[in-house]
Parts: sequence; structure tokens; C-alpha cells
Amino acid sequence: MSSFYKRATSVFTNHPVLTRLLVVATVSGGGVAVYSGARPYYGAYADQGNCVNKKKVVVLGTGWGGVSFLKNLKNPSYELEVVSPRNYFAFTPLLPSVTVGTVEARSVVEPIRSIAAKSVSDFNFREAECFKIDHENKKVYCRSTQHSKLGEKEEFAVDYDYLVVSVGGLSNTFNTPGVEENTLFLKEVEDALRIRRSVIDCFERASLPSVSDQEREKILHFVVVGGGPTGVEFAAELHDFVHEDLAKLYPALQQYVKITLLEATDHILGMFDKRITEFAEDKFHRDGINLKTGSMVTKISDKEISTKVRATGETQSIPYGMIVWSTGIGTRPFVKDFMKQIGQADRRVLATDEWLRVEGTQNIYALGDCASIVQRKVMDDIGAIFKKADKKNKGSLKVDDFKEVVNDIIDRYPQVELYLKKKQLKNFVQLLKNSQPDEELDIEKFKAALSEVDSEMKNLPATAQVADQEGKYLATCFNRMEQCEKNPEGPNRIRELGRHKFKPFRYKHLGQFAPLGGEQTAAQLTLPWDTVSIGRSTQWLWYSIYASKQVSWRTRTLVVSDWGRRFIFGRDSSRI
Ligand code: FAD
Ligand code: MG
Repeated sequence: MSSFYKRATSVFTNHPVLTRLLVVATVSGGGVAVYSGARPYYGAYADQGNCVNKKKVVVLGTGWGGVSFLKNLKNPSYELEVVSPRNYFAFTPLLPSVTVGTVEARSVVEPIRSIAAKSVSDFNFREAECFKIDHENKKVYCRSTQHSKLGEKEEFAVDYDYLVVSVGGLSNTFNTPGVEENTLFLKEVEDALRIRRSVIDCFERASLPSVSDQEREKILHFVVVGGGPTGVEFAAELHDFVHEDLAKLYPALQQYVKITLLEATDHILGMFDKRITEFAEDKFHRDGINLKTGSMVTKISDKEISTKVRATGETQSIPYGMIVWSTGIGTRPFVKDFMKQIGQADRRVLATDEWLRVEGTQNIYALGDCASIVQRKVMDDIGAIFKKADKKNKGSLKVDDFKEVVNDIIDRYPQVELYLKKKQLKNFVQLLKNSQPDEELDIEKFKAALSEVDSEMKNLPATAQVADQEGKYLATCFNRMEQCEKNPEGPNRIRELGRHKFKPFRYKHLGQFAPLGGEQTAAQLTLPWDTVSIGRSTQWLWYSIYASKQVSWRTRTLVVSDWGRRFIFGRDSSRI
């Protein structure tokens, strides 16, 4: 396995030309993908009069999930109403770049109305936040973000036939005292701008003549909490900003600057391949970033951050100038309330089935960071699967008799495919044959053959990639909804195992990047073979993929020109 990885990796690291070719292909491919779906705009309110018979779809949120749904909804038989406190889509993977001005904030956002204009004809947008879902009466209650003349925010209710909840999450503080009051989050565009101002503030404050050396050291101590991809990328961006740009403008302050990255587990980038983690940790050591793994934050005051070493219990309080808190996501309060209403109070996020329908509700779908799919265990359904294959009720079957149900099993239980891949088995039949070479299988032997398959069940990560694919999948289902009404049983043949019109959602992991600063990026890719790629050529791949994934040609042009501007002039350190 490791030699396979080595070979696969070397294809990328040793062939920058191959990488660049892929770069060009991806950029142009992305462009085609974005524009192929464009349709004429008939005006947001143009045929409102014809809406009477249209089913009304209300979408909460204009992030990755909501916008992907919106972009891919092509069926004109819906009236669409989008409610979100922000009237734009933000390309979150570039937010760490916005914190230091590698990319400007306006380059990573696109107005929701212009995105909708290209895809749906019957569209309304309300800049408001939902504060209650009343699923029994099919209503959502919303509060405008705009203040009225009396200083109040208008509240209103919106009816729906279908509701799509894609409201993302909040920064998770784990109830650590002082986090809300004293740290900066990195979740929204405003957060990134706040961080940018705060970094410059620290440098200007440290430049004042009255400040002692000790105070200067404190002010220029930047702490990042969380060694996941966002925290790591931010620490890397900050390091580059300080050393490539601010060093020239504040030369006297360089000796005082310190960046600390705190991570509670033993390694940063824990979800990546071990080689990426090692490379990242080595690089941070070389760069002088103070990496403290196994270190939990217990409390934050306005002056100090207190940590506890997990292994020894030793505690420490360190003065700081600025803290960025990036330790994962929590649930929005109104989603929590809704979860209580529908008997999901003990869960972290909304539970949906494999068709993204919220469990315990009708006509409500949820996707992205606020939801997770509850996968079915093969072992829970094993009797029904066997019965389906055993049409003649023989009680014992040859391996080939299972061929008819194989596709259903592969469709319905993603863990089976992961298990086959892990065990390097060609297909399901081979799995059965390996377990019972010549004999017939009865239910007990069938159970034994599949006994380990459920160990591969995994929750999908809270990433843009997942939210984007879920939005697209759901839109495809909505596009075909009417057509499928005529054939309600649809393609899924094991009817006993959840009759539905559509194939369940299946996530296709394309890979993940970890930019590490200094034009070095690490990536774990699936192309279609698994490969790890680290270095400058991967940074080029990152540039091309992130350019291609932009939501419009406008943002694509702005982002690419920001990168060019940064190469030529460096990052801007004006505090505006
Ligand atoms: P979001 O994109 O967060 O969208 C939620 C939407 O709901 C927003 O429009 C919000 O305004 C709206 N909303 C909030 N409250 C309400 C309410 N009460 N009523 C109505 N609307 C509401 N993922 C990757 O795959 N690759 C990356 O490189 C990557 N980098 C990231 C970098 C950063 C800094 C961050 C913060 C995240 C990154 N992610 C990345 C994760 C990715 O952004 C999320 O997984 C993704 O945004 C989830 O999409 P979503 O639609 O569920 O939520
Ligand atoms: Mg999810």
C-alpha cells in the first residue's frame, strides 16, 4: 500500500507539467461547468401571477448547500423563496486568504440575486434570519436584518410546501469561559475583515513609544486555537504576511512577533494522511511557528490564555495580543429548538435519511453543516436483503444468486464500497466468495460474510464539498420529482428497505487541500486513484482548482487578479 502511495505521489511531485496540464484542464472545465447551466432571466417577479399552482420551496441559507441547490434547480414548476441574513454567497475556502489581504473580501462573494438570475425564474429573496420552524403548519418565522424607523426588526412568516434547511453552523466554543468575549472567529467574511484589522492594530499598537518591550511581546503574540485545516491555513497565511510584507514595514518589531498554534489532540491536520501531518508539523517548526499539540484551552481572560497539557495536567497562562478561535462547528439555537420539537434533542446536528429528508418530518430537507445523514447498518437489514435474493424461499443460496441484489446493496449502504476498497476486493461477489468459497450461503453464513462491513460507516465531514454535492443532489431530485410521481417505486428495488423515488445520496470525495504557506500546499486527492501530493506544484493545483470552483466569472477574475497583485506588490497593510 505504501509503495503504491509513493508511486502515486511521485507522479505529482515529479511531474509539475502533468500538474499544470491538470490545472489548465480544471480551470477551463470549471468555467464550462459554471456556464453550461445558465438560462435567461425572466425577472424575479415577472410571472408571480402564475405561481398559484406552483409548489413553494423555501430555502434557508445562502451558503454552499443552499446556493448549490439554487444553481441546480432547473424545473420551472417551483416558486422559490430564499431566506438568509446575508444577501450573498461567500467562498469560504478563501476566507483565510482574506484575513491577511492575499485576496480581497469582495473577490470571494457573489450577490445571491445574480446567482439566482442565471438559474431560476421564479425567485424571491428575503434578507432575514429564520428563528422558528413550525413543521406542523408548514411555516417558518423570520426576522429581518433591517431595522425599521422605530428601531425594530420586522418579523414575518413564510409558508412552504418544501423546506430546505441549509443554515450551516456556529463556531463551537465548547463552553470554554472567555472565548466569546476575547477571541475572533473565522467563519464569515466580516470575521476575516475583523481579523485583518486586528493584526494591523496589534502592529500599530506595538509601535507606540510608550509601550515597553514586555508589553510589545504580548501585543505581538498571535494565538490560533485549533489545528484543523482552517486554523492551520490561517496560521500559515499570518506567518507569510508577517515575514513577507510586515517585516519590511515594521522591521523593528520582527524580533517580538510570535505565532502559537494550540491543538488539543496530538497532531495537527488529524484528518489527513500521516505524511501530510508530518510535513506540516516539520514546516511549522522550520518557520518558527510555536506548535503546541496535546494542549487544551481552559479559560481566556482579556490578558491571558490558560492551557492545560492533556498528558500531564500541567497548566500555563500565556499573555496574548490576538486570538483566533477555530475549533469546529456548533448548532444554531433555532435549529436546536427545532430538533427538540421533532425528538432529536440528543443529537448534535439534524438527522436526515439518505435522501436528505429530516427524520420525523414531512417535506423538510436539510443539508450541509447543519445536518448529517443517518446511515443504515447492513446488519439491521440483513434479513430483508437475504429474503429479497431468496425469491424461491430456498433458505440457502449460491453466491451467484445474490447478483440481482448487489446493485441495491451498493447503492443503499456506502460502507460496503468503502469496505471492498479497504480489503482490496474487486466486487461484492468476491467478498462472498472469499468468505464461503464453494458452499451455499444460508442467512447465518451470509451474516458472517458481511459482519465487518458496518465498521466502515462514517459521518460525512462538514465541508463545502459535501454541502455542494448535497445541494446538487437535492436539486436533481426536485427537478425529477413530478416525473417520478408517475413511477413512485423508482429505481430502488429492495422495496422493503425504504421505498423511494430516487437513489440515495452518495458522496464522492474528490480530495482535500491544506495550504501551508510559502507557496507550499499538501493535498490528498482521489483522481481516481488515492494520492498524496505536497509542494509547489500542489500549490499550483490549488490555485487552479480554487479558481475553477468560483461561483461566477466575475469572482474568478477578481480572485486571480488578487493573486497576481499580491505576487507583484505584496499584501496591503492599510488599516481601513
Ligand atoms: P454555510 O456555507 O455556512 O451557509 C450557511 C448559510 O445560512 C449562510 O448564508 C448564513 O448566512 C445562513 N444562515 C445562518 N443563520 C440563518 C438563519 N437563522 N436563517 C436563515 N439563514 C441563516 N470546506 C471545504 O470543503 N474546503 C475548504 O477549503 C474549506 N475551507 C473553509 C475555510 C473557512 C474559514 C471556513 C469557515 C470553512 C471552510 N470550509 C471548507 C467548510 C465549508 O465552508 C462549510 O462546510 C460549508 O460552508 C457548509 O455549507 P452550508 O451551506 O452548510 O453552510
Ligand atoms: Mg452534513
